[in-house]
Amino acid sequence: MLIERFDTEIFTPPCDPGAARFAARARLMVDISEVLPYLNATLRGAVYLPAAQALTWKKGGHNIAFHAYEIATSNAEEREEAERELRGLIELVNKTWDRRAEITPDHQTHQRPTPMAVYKSLPHTNCRMCGEPTCYTFAFKLCASQRTLDDCPALRQAEHAERLAELRTMVIEAPSLGKAD
Ligand code: SF4
Repeated sequence: MLIERFDTEIFTPPCDPGAARFAARARLMVDISEVLPYLNATLRGAVYLPAAQALTWKKGGHNIAFHAYEIATSNAEEREEAERELRGLIELVNKTWDRRAEITPDHQTHQRPTPMAVYKSLPHTNCRMCGEPTCYTFAFKLCASQRTLDDCPALRQAEHAERLAELRTMVIEAPSLGKAD
């Protein structure tokens, strides 16, 4: 196990004190820089910055950051949710570290797709079957990991098979925390 001891801090962001959103930060007793290329290889949509020894990731509307001695997550609705998310991230790091012999580390920086790039591959019908008013709104939420490709029924139609295949190569679809693949 890589991370055994850490201090946790739950707080409302300084830019918006008292806001009904919570952030959580774990200060680590161990340097986790070496695990970042393995997380980069397994977390779709992660952005790894080797020079800064940092990796950022989005999951379900949470902005997540891994640094050498710190893990942080933001935008939780409740204090308990922020703490739960943080513990899931620590477990994710530990599981990824334990599995590192099975993973080819990725030292490259990959940019996340923009909502416009994702939108271009959606069906453009604004049919609302996904519950969103437009395909662009859906694209925006896909990029924020708030929706998944399965939420667009139109993409399951045979005529959109090519679009779906293209989207699968570019869209962020976050795994459950605690699972690195
Ligand atoms: S279901 Fe798909 S095609 Fe229809 S509006 Fe939503 S994203 Fe667009």
